[in-house]
Amino acid sequence: MHGMRAGVSPYPSLLPKVEQVYWAFRSLVLLGLVFYFVVAWPEGASGLRGWGLLLIYALVLAVPALLVRLCHWRFEQVFTSLFLLDVVSITWLVHITGDIASNFFVLYYAFVPFAAYYLGPAVGLGAAALVTVIYAVPCFSTSGLVALPEFTFRAMMLWVFTASMGMASRFVDTFAQRLLNAMDKLNERTSELERTHTQLQTIYETSRSLAELRAVENVIDRVLSIARSVLNYPICELYTWDPVRRRLFLKGRLDETTVERLERSIAVEPNEIFARVIRDGDVARVVDRHLGRTVIDGSARRSQLVVPMVSEGRLIGLLNAESPQVNAFGERDERVFSILAASTAMALVNADLHQQMEKLTIVDELTGVYNFRHFRTRLEDEKRRAVRYGQPLSLIMVDIDWFKTLNDRYGHEIGNVALRQLVRVIGACVRDVDTLARYGGEEFIIILPQTGTEEAHTIGERIRAKVEETEFGPDTTGRPIHLTVSIGISCYPDNGRSEENLVESVDQALYRAKGGGRNAVRLT
Ligand code: GH3
Ligand code: MG
Ligand code: MG
Repeated sequence: MHGMRAGVSPYPSLLPKVEQVYWAFRSLVLLGLVFYFVVAWPEGASGLRGWGLLLIYALVLAVPALLVRLCHWRFEQVFTSLFLLDVVSITWLVHITGDIASNFFVLYYAFVPFAAYYLGPAVGLGAAALVTVIYAVPCFSTSGLVALPEFTFRAMMLWVFTASMGMASRFVDTFAQRLLNAMDKLNERTSELERTHTQLQTIYETSRSLAELRAVENVIDRVLSIARSVLNYPICELYTWDPVRRRLFLKGRLDETTVERLERSIAVEPNEIFARVIRDGDVARVVDRHLGRTVIDGSARRSQLVVPMVSEGRLIGLLNAESPQVNAFGERDERVFSILAASTAMALVNADLHQQMEKLTIVDELTGVYNFRHFRTRLEDEKRRAVRYGQPLSLIMVDIDWFKTLNDRYGHEIGNVALRQLVRVIGACVRDVDTLARYGGEEFIIILPQTGTEEAHTIGERIRAKVEETEFGPDTTGRPIHLTVSIGISCYPDNGRSEENLVESVDQALYRAKGGGRNAVRLT
């Protein structure tokens, strides 16, 4: 049946409530009739018949209202059942008020077009036909053919009103439908936009945090966790690209069950889609991998999104997301994933540079003396030289006594200050050719080329004494801090021939210095 206003619409109606208009109209008609019967009752009509009609009409108004309220009849049902009763009662009214001479036929003009509006043009015209036939009965039965011009005119008007109303109804229907569709689409777009917005914001924020990571491994972990928690991708892989070997390396992946970074990356020959992304640098979105294929690879992965990771025009790698659902990735994903890819590329380059730089640094950040790595290479060099020229070589290891207590008492920062001060004290006691390095936390080591045990012991003793008399700090109350150190010494070739043995024995010497009560120098 035509007419969405009659059915249950999923949308809130844009039109005034047709039902309420209808009830209001009926009540008005009823009032009009009462007025008519009381004030302008025409001569000759029987009062009883008139009042009877009024009673029927009142019932016709009350009963359906009750049906709707109590029995939950749909308005459409009520309207259709009432319509026939209405037509009959209007005709009856016309009859008792003078047939063709009666003006009550105008009530048809209200009810029939209403039917056309409410139930559609087809039903409306059917109703018009029915009314025409019924109305013919009182008109012609008393007046005969004299009534023909009058009757024809009135019937014609009825048809015109009904047809116009039907057309209007159809127009309103399509218009409302279109409007509602547009509104629906607008709503959808708005909420999609909102979703995109929040996701973009999260991605921006989380991506920014990538730039702070200094290790490639941490970047990979973080990217996978973003793909899981922010983007909700079921499957995601991170590849790096080696432009020389023209190979992809799988560095990490997540699927439904696991998130893993690969300790040893797997070299992968780029497949068709990857190759295209590598070649063009464009995003590839696959709606359904099974589409247009005769041989299906048996994988449950249907849709795919591959974005290149590019930093300063250089391809760093790929991010690959897959889903068992067809068409799981939209334009929004393309955008969001690309942002993540760009940030990842930058973070990977950063972390890589940082790691390279760290390898190149030879200086300890806190104290400014050489670091442990540089100590190792210098020891190799110096030992080689010592072997070549047949000369001795000594190691001195210095460890602060009770340093943990100092930290605990005054805080780490004052501890750091003391470490820097200590470095200056030790530095003043050694020669330019000697190498002073930070061995670990509060332990320092010195390589003394062309130095035998005796001489090394003298230097060690000098350091110990100098530290003892130095005022470190000040502490938190402004008072100076007193420190002592324990010192171990080992010498090539007497205490070991390999670097490892030398370090081992200097460590043992230090251990003995500690065991002997601290603030002491011990040879092996
Ligand atoms: P011992 O006399 O046996 O050497 O006692 P200790 O407390 O010096 O030795 P321990 O090895 O137990 O503690 C070393 C302390 O050095 C622990 C740590 O808090 C501190 N430390 C290590 N590196 C740093 C650093 O860079 N800055 C500061 N402030 N403290 C450090
Ligand atoms: Mg220590
Ligand atoms: Mg110590």
